[in-house]
Amino acid sequence: MKSQEVRKQFLDFFASKGHLIVASAPIVLKDDPTLMFNNSGMAQFKEYFLGNATPKSNRIADTQKCLRVSGKHNDLEDVGFDTYHHTMFEMLGNWSFGDYFKKEAITWAWELLTEVYKIPKENLYVSVFEGSAEENVPFDQEAWDIWKELISEDRIILGNKKDNFWEMGDQGPCGPCSEIHVDLRTAEEKAAVSGKSLVNNDHPQVVEIWNNVFMEFNRKADGSLEKLPAKHVDTGMGFERLCMALQGVTSNYDTDVFTPLIEKVSQITGAKYTSNEVANVSEPQDKTNIAIRVIVDHVRAVAFAIADGQLPSNTGAGYVIRRILRRAIRYGFTFLDIKEPFINQLVAVLANQMGEFFPEIKLQETFVTNVIREEEASFLRTLDQGLQLLDKVIADTKEALPSEGLGRISGAKAFELYDTFGFPKDLTALILKEKGMSFSDAEFDNSMQAQKARSRAASEVSTEDWSVLIPGNVETFVGYDQTENEVKITRIRKV
Ligand code: ATP
Ligand code: MG
Ligand code: MG
Ligand code: MG
Repeated sequence: MKSQEVRKQFLDFFASKGHLIVASAPIVLKDDPTLMFNNSGMAQFKEYFLGNATPKSNRIADTQKCLRVSGKHNDLEDVGFDTYHHTMFEMLGNWSFGDYFKKEAITWAWELLTEVYKIPKENLYVSVFEGSAEENVPFDQEAWDIWKELISEDRIILGNKKDNFWEMGDQGPCGPCSEIHVDLRTAEEKAAVSGKSLVNNDHPQVVEIWNNVFMEFNRKADGSLEKLPAKHVDTGMGFERLCMALQGVTSNYDTDVFTPLIEKVSQITGAKYTSNEVANVSEPQDKTNIAIRVIVDHVRAVAFAIADGQLPSNTGAGYVIRRILRRAIRYGFTFLDIKEPFINQLVAVLANQMGEFFPEIKLQETFVTNVIREEEASFLRTLDQGLQLLDKVIADTKEALPSEGLGRISGAKAFELYDTFGFPKDLTALILKEKGMSFSDAEFDNSMQAQKARSRAASEVSTEDWSVLIPGNVETFVGYDQTENEVKITRIRKV
């Protein structure tokens, strides 16, 4: 089943159960001090749960563009190394605002997975909240009893607060949840460990696909829980993971969500991707495959963030986007050996693939392409020199520590890479980690403070140093500030 059809069937199913289908909220949040990006389907409905606003319908379903790269839900470190965590992903969701509760939510989830999508029942596991004395929330007997009617008890697993008590952030609506996991192991693999019940993370092919959250509480700023005025349902299913389960593949990257992007990368760079690789974070992997996965993942996050109005910049959400893109650029440069901007060419593929459902990407295809191309060109201007400096620093450090061989480079050098060559701190950390090395955060921060003090002293810096790329073209993107530290504004000039 093609991904377009998978998405449509989800929305059709919940429409048939009386749900109003709404559009995804933008990926970037502008007015929520507790959250930078939409990290889940429920974020846009938070006020409904809290009882501060009334929804258009008490049953809603949609697919939400999510980004998990900061705050409580941050998967960035895993992306590219496993085959089912993305920076940006779609979360299919259905909601009840004070309407139906556990019985309908669980029964419909099961009906959709096993009767509409026809996932074999013997490939599914579920988990139920075991309770927490610390939070004074009991074992979820009600969910257990509902599941018991649908699935054999040895496939119902108890989960702790970490996995089965869902929270959007440090504050906000929360509650016990019941997750559904799909087991994509081969028959031989299953036989080899028969009798042992598996949950997510025990094996890379046993993957959580859907979380059904029963919202009953609000986490207050002081950390305590209070009862919400009503009980709600909030579910989230990973669209790309569902496509993996339905397309008979063992990696999200082998679904039609990613294959056109991977083909384009191969076409541009000549690099070959190994399909159906079962990547495991804890084992060494082929660097080319990792690089390709990182690039096709990251371009989606960056392209959709820009299409939603968040340009790469030096502060806040904009810097998160810039960091993600620079991470992808460096993977292409080092492991695919591409020294020219090329990631921007993937935007056309994305617009073609997703533009029908998400018109924002189609409508702003040229703009997004130009922003990414300009970002690539800018970082590529300093990347090579920065990497050479880093190599030298690593070699010098090794010389200084001949017996240990490995070690920490100076935080001041990491800062120099940031300041002079535009290396985000986490990129330097990632490159060092590949060599089993690190740097001191405190030293980095000290250098940063010293630099800020210097720049405050010389605050008469001009910010008008950006250039017009396409003169005479009205309302066209023309470039934006490139300097790393002085300029905090990102802007577009109409010419
Ligand atoms: P995991 O344990 O795999 O990290 P999660 O428990 O953090 O997932 P939830 O917060 O429960 O995820 O989100 C609901 C669903 O969204 C998950 O069941 C999963 O299918 C999907 N999902 C979560 N994080 C990601 C991600 N980084 N990339 C792709 N899909 C994701
Ligand atoms: Mg997670
Ligand atoms: Mg989980
Ligand atoms: Mg979960």
